[in-house]
Amino acid sequence: MEKAATYLINHRIRPSVQRMAIMKYLLEHKTHPSADEIYLALSPSMVSLSKTTVYTTLKLLTDHGAAQMITIDEHNACFDADTSTHAHFLCKSCGNIYDLFSQKDSKEVLPFDLEGHDVTEMHYYYKGFCKNCISRKDE
Ligand SMILES: [Zn+2]
Ligand SMILES: [Zn+2]
Repeated sequence: MEKAATYLINHRIRPSVQRMAIMKYLLEHKTHPSADEIYLALSPSMVSLSKTTVYTTLKLLTDHGAAQMITIDEHNACFDADTSTHAHFLCKSCGNIYDLFSQKDSKEVLPFDLEGHDVTEMHYYYKGFCKNCISRKDE
């Protein structure tokens, strides 16, 4: 079976053709695409696909933990099939969003006092200038 279909079933989502196409796109594009980017990429080969379907499917995927929504860019929600704990770095120059992974297992380490609240998700957002933009400026 196709990887995207297996992935959906493992997250208790019924794999329709459109859901599989969106999941496959997310699994193959680690660039944190927005809903509009996914729609523009898939709509030429899927004439029946609507923007609304893309939005509702992405909500379904995030609700079931098959993807995570990233709101580091305030103008555009982005999506990531990698739901492991990692940080995101937004470059203020080129707009790329990079994944940052911790070398040590920092899952249990929280830098803030939770005061008894129960955390169910964590988002780490960093902004600045990426190494590619920095080296381009030096040239
Ligand atoms: Zn950059
Ligand atoms: Zn990511």
